[in-house]
Amino acid sequence: MTVYLVGAGPGDPGLLTLRGAEVLGRADVVVHDRLSAVELLDLAPASAERIDVGKAPGKARYTQDEITALLVERGSAGQTVVRLKGGDPTVFARGGEEAMALRDAGIAFEIVPGVTSAIAAPAYAGIPVTQRFSSTSFTVVTGHEDPSIGEDGSVDWDAVANVGGTIVVLMGVGRVAKICERLIAAGRDPDTPAAAVIWGTKPEQRSVRATLATLPDQDLESPATIVVGAVAGLDLSWFESRPLFDRTVVVTRARAQSSSLLASLRELGAGTVEIPAIHIDEPADGGSSLRAAVDRLADYDWVVVTSPNGARRLLAECRDARAFGAAQVAAIGPGTAEALAEGNVVADLVPERFVAEGLLEVFDDGPGRVLLPRAAEARDVLPEGLREKGWDVDVVEAYRTVQGRPSDDDLARAAGADIVTFTSSSTVRNFLAVCDTVPPTVACIGPITAATAREHGLTVDVEADVHTIEGLLDALIGHVRNR
Ligand code: SAH
Repeated sequence: MTVYLVGAGPGDPGLLTLRGAEVLGRADVVVHDRLSAVELLDLAPASAERIDVGKAPGKARYTQDEITALLVERGSAGQTVVRLKGGDPTVFARGGEEAMALRDAGIAFEIVPGVTSAIAAPAYAGIPVTQRFSSTSFTVVTGHEDPSIGEDGSVDWDAVANVGGTIVVLMGVGRVAKICERLIAAGRDPDTPAAAVIWGTKPEQRSVRATLATLPDQDLESPATIVVGAVAGLDLSWFESRPLFDRTVVVTRARAQSSSLLASLRELGAGTVEIPAIHIDEPADGGSSLRAAVDRLADYDWVVVTSPNGARRLLAECRDARAFGAAQVAAIGPGTAEALAEGNVVADLVPERFVAEGLLEVFDDGPGRVLLPRAAEARDVLPEGLREKGWDVDVVEAYRTVQGRPSDDDLARAAGADIVTFTSSSTVRNFLAVCDTVPPTVACIGPITAATAREHGLTVDVEADVHTIEGLLDALIGHVRNR
């Protein structure tokens, strides 16, 4: 019904507005540019059509007229259309032209403002565009037009120079020398601080500090936001100072589990590549033995759960909250205990060492019955150890870990990454089955995983002392800091 002209923000997907997310969530069609944040497209319903107008098969890209015609056509067909644009849709983004065409065609439209790179890229480089007393205005200007003295572009560079305050130039990399020269000629001090923020707000952000006289000599590339003025001399760096900034980390967990690790890595500044080396699948028997075991759950003295996946599978089969009866529950690892707690089952025993051996050390002797729901391909240490202690153990296959198939794009990014993280032995095996190139730094969650990595010829650089995701992250930060 409506065409929404939505600002996607400058690159960090977190900088989309709530309104933008809401309209994306009910779009029939998303018309997007060669966006910096592809993740945002995932916010649209899976069924929504996604049209990349930044590139089109067989031709360079859509012309502006073709884009406008597309919006009018889809809008008049009654579709909910989201026109997603980098930064703010009205800042050097032709949102005004698109809105005019929609108005003239009698199609309802809305403008959903976005966070513009003009402010956000400097902010992520630790440069506030205004500062009390010293920088009391900011001028955002396009650098696309030729600023050579004598040519009459429509930007009045003398006026821009003389208004004082901060000057923010977008699309200025190609003409940076002429722009700086022009501002100096108009009376700005050549020693005025000047900065360029390249790929601002993205994991690959790079900021360059210089002066009006020296900025053109720096190594610049597009897209960059150029900032000229006293504020460009302030150093409030935070984004580029985060512990894992400028590192690309491969995450090899199953996709369903990887989100917390991914989120933490990004929070620490790392770029991430997901190689869902394994994913979790139904057991070979479709879950019938697990279901049968759950029906007899109260017959057991102990239920020993060894992984969050095992916990989730077990709880998914428990249709009656009383199913456990008097059976006690042991969990290996706090993640497993947490997964149980999410289903309102509080583990009675969580050994301090988060491996099978750790449980055997603290587990009482039998007799009695133990149910051990776990992955098809798990080690035999636990059932054998428990049997030695006099327990009658039923091992039930609760899930299978299956080889994932990463995209070529992700494989290429993984090959160029700095760090790979392994959170279980199967992630090592499955990663090596799909990736030929191993990143230079190998980080493992614990000794068993590390041993598997070494068996496969890898050098383990980081081994977590505490065998949890947090422990792994701490070890990784320590390693990066020491280098
Ligand atoms: N509507 C956009 C601007 C489009 S013009 C906005 O509001 O941000 C394109 C220019 O924006 C680029 O040439 C560059 O100067 C700037 N730009 C866009 N994304 C950027 C980013 N991630 N970092 C730095 N500058 C960026």
